[in-house]
Amino acid sequence: APAAPTTHDTAALTVLKKVWGYDAFRGVQADIVRTVAGGGNALVLMPTGGGKSLCYQVPSLLRPGVGIIVSPLIALMKDQVDTLRALGVRAAFLNSTLSLDGVREVESALLSGELDLLYVAPERLLLPRTLELLDRAPVALFAVDEAHCVSQWGHDFRPEYQGLNVLPDRYPHIPRLALTATADDRTRADILNVLQLGGAPQFISSFDRPNIQYRVANKEGPKTQLLDFINAEHRGDAGIVYCLSRKSVEETARWLQTQGVDAVAYHAGLPPRERNSAQERFLNEEGLVVVATVAFGMGIDKPNVRFVAHLDLPKSMEGYYQETGRAGRDGLPSTAWMVYGLADVVNVRRMLASSDAPEEVKRVEAAKLDALLTYCEVATCRRQVLLSYFGEDLSAPCGNCDTCLNPPSVRDATREAQMALSAVIRTGNRFGAAHLTDVLMGHATERVVSLGHHQLPTFAVGAAHDEKYWRGLLRQLVSLGYLAAGEHHGLSATGKARAILKGEQTLALREDTLAPRPSKRDRDR
Ligand code: ADP
Ligand code: ZN
Repeated sequence: APAAPTTHDTAALTVLKKVWGYDAFRGVQADIVRTVAGGGNALVLMPTGGGKSLCYQVPSLLRPGVGIIVSPLIALMKDQVDTLRALGVRAAFLNSTLSLDGVREVESALLSGELDLLYVAPERLLLPRTLELLDRAPVALFAVDEAHCVSQWGHDFRPEYQGLNVLPDRYPHIPRLALTATADDRTRADILNVLQLGGAPQFISSFDRPNIQYRVANKEGPKTQLLDFINAEHRGDAGIVYCLSRKSVEETARWLQTQGVDAVAYHAGLPPRERNSAQERFLNEEGLVVVATVAFGMGIDKPNVRFVAHLDLPKSMEGYYQETGRAGRDGLPSTAWMVYGLADVVNVRRMLASSDAPEEVKRVEAAKLDALLTYCEVATCRRQVLLSYFGEDLSAPCGNCDTCLNPPSVRDATREAQMALSAVIRTGNRFGAAHLTDVLMGHATERVVSLGHHQLPTFAVGAAHDEKYWRGLLRQLVSLGYLAAGEHHGLSATGKARAILKGEQTLALREDTLAPRPSKRDRDR
């Protein structure tokens, strides 16, 4: 149970009001501040936008000495420090972007007690020179931000973070605070281990973002779908559009511009000047849409982002949650919108399979992708699926996601799934969706005939449905793990498929993505 309010609390509220102009702490912030200001360690698990910064900034101001913030986000340190300085806080940073003179200046300010907060990159902190300096400086606390970076299981492993075990060893009596927005059990265990936080209280906030409306649709004509969405609901709003490749980032940004949407591109391949200007404009202007790769957004704090759109599938649930979490930090209604199709599923699966990562890591990544695909295909409340992934139980459907607002009907598709699976197997487990669809529908294309596939018993068994039906069904079979995607987009049946083929298991699939809904846009992807 949280400790009783103390005079610390009054002091904390006074600082909060005087420096930031805020009247109250949010949720668990007050308990965390009380714990750390009182000299204790803590683990803080809070979603992006939850307000982690104040959890170490306020105690740093309350305790004698300087608060040391370890952060991997070098590119953001200057901004963070500028913001704090504008509030009258004596803040500085130490990282590789400083000149030698700049470093010396910060070091002498540190030693003479002229700093409240010091942001340090992990590799800089671990230098003998910095550690010797910290031995002699008055330190209020160590805050390890983005603490999930210690874990190989995380999506953002940084080897330097494992060196942070120097903190408990070398400074056992200085409070340590680990903060992250990644909740998974294995990651949490790694953080506790490296920073030796075994006995420390853990502050875990809800990951629910009730003001964000979650929506996922079938990819039909992604650019047009995006434009329709923006025009219908978010004209003139600030938003982020995520694409997988730099090329599609640039194409999409250009296209939105021609359609009268104020849009700008952002990816790691652009010159730094252009990237900085995109970021500056996004922060300072009201209604700019940034079309970006995942390189954009980490640590960006813009409260009034009204929508986050995904034109391509993220790699994991964590990624999806973090990216969509950039919407609606101000608590006002916002939209997380995504379109995806069969090609996405196949692409992401192939990218994961062909990476150089160790087998064990690949397995974990594949499981994370599976969770996301289940989320995409679900016919019940999306928020319940999302939160349950993060270990949270939402007792009733949320009423603010597409599946709650427009419940999709499901239909038994066992027979069709059997047709598709046997077409896959009889053609040798190596053809892509287009060819399989031709076989199922009975299209005697040149390729079909030259391979002799028009003589297979499965040829034309699916003529009652159209092409879109079969693509939707194949996508769901891949998403749900009955089919695996191999080289050259070839699909093969997995072990899971057997139960369906034998009739031991039935399969209910979403009707909306299967129902024939002829459209000219079908083929623009
Ligand atoms: P996180 O680091 O968890 O992503 P931040 O610390 O950047 O989140 O906080 C997100 C936003 O919420 C910021 O704009 C911050 O100023 C605001 N905020 C945090 N705590 C409070 C509070 N107690 N009262 C008002 N605004 C707050
Ligand atoms: Zn819902």
